[in-house]
Amino acid sequence: MNSSDIELIVRQVLEGMRTGGSPAAGGPQEIPKSGRVAMLTALENFEIKEFPILALGDDDILVKVEGCGVCGTDAHEFKRDPFGLIPVVLGHEGTGEIVAMGKNVKADSAGKPVKIGDKVVTCMIFKDNPDITMFDLNKQNVGGADVYGLLPDDEIHHNGWFADYIVLRGGSTFFNVSDLDLDLRILIEPAAVLIHAVERAKTTGILRFNSRVVVQGCGPIGLLCIAVLRTMGVENIVAIDGEEKRLQFAKEMGAGHSVNFKRHSGIEQLVNAVKEGFGGHFADFGFQCTGSPVAHSNVYKFIRSGGGLCELGFFVDGGDASINPHFDICSKELTIVGSWVYNLRDYPTTFDFLKRAKAIGLPIEKLITHRFPLEQINEALKTNLRMEGLKVAIIND
Ligand SMILES: [Zn+2]
Repeated sequence: MNSSDIELIVRQVLEGMRTGGSPAAGGPQEIPKSGRVAMLTALENFEIKEFPILALGDDDILVKVEGCGVCGTDAHEFKRDPFGLIPVVLGHEGTGEIVAMGKNVKADSAGKPVKIGDKVVTCMIFKDNPDITMFDLNKQNVGGADVYGLLPDDEIHHNGWFADYIVLRGGSTFFNVSDLDLDLRILIEPAAVLIHAVERAKTTGILRFNSRVVVQGCGPIGLLCIAVLRTMGVENIVAIDGEEKRLQFAKEMGAGHSVNFKRHSGIEQLVNAVKEGFGGHFADFGFQCTGSPVAHSNVYKFIRSGGGLCELGFFVDGGDASINPHFDICSKELTIVGSWVYNLRDYPTTFDFLKRAKAIGLPIEKLITHRFPLEQINEALKTNLRMEGLKVAIIND
């Protein structure tokens, strides 16, 4: 038997495993007849329901869910149902293992080959238009935008990552991330927000290796911001927050100094504290990572004339902020960029960032502070709403 015979046999076996999504004979996983989902059936009420897993189409993928982060969007849906999606299976920051796929599935959205057993994530953005951003999606109906975890319920039911299994329909954006461990995979989506923000910041031409950078807000977004800056080689970072625990974490993530705004009364004192962190200098660049209008008004004061600012804290409408355009922007000749969510191209960059962050010893996975099994999803969402810890995640066994 020569090598081409062997290749032929292997190919036939692989084809057989894939055909019609039938169970992978001898493969890593058996396909169950049904799977559980956590379905939001009323405000603040998930119910665990079991639905059959239907035969897959030739372009579909069945994924066994390993875990999924709880996002602010999930918390909004849980509390208020702003998208009118109830009943709905939520969860979009999920990841898991391919257990079956249609015969046409060969590669992920970046062209990387996929096979049964590979670990994948989905992405909010259509693969047809790499430059589409969340802003464009929002002009459509979010529910109609192929966002797993925000899809209306239908006959398939396995539409979100808060579940045992999810069915990815042909044409969906997904990525093979088998080289990242579970915790890092759960953090891909929030990390992509920072990759996008830093890309936006770089367009100002002001952010450099030796820049003094102030990061305001040390929730998951601010902490990931510090991590991205550290992996880029930015050395001088001052972190601002009102909670000592978060500021401590900011230092572990690579901030050189931290400022607790609650310890300073008035903006002048606060500015002095930030300047102290930079050895008496203003910041060259600021990242505003809170959803607080007051924080937006403050951030200008920390930045030098000719400096830059990236505002990324207002994922949703947080109200108006007052600034003095003369002092804050014009006379300082500040360069300002806004950033919202991410685009498709930020995803592969994010995978590389996470590997690099781990390699240089940043404690990225410590961002996941709470883990719940699927049955305790109501408690998980309530924990998120109470703003306890940083990242809450559902972890399946
Ligand atoms: Zn999210």
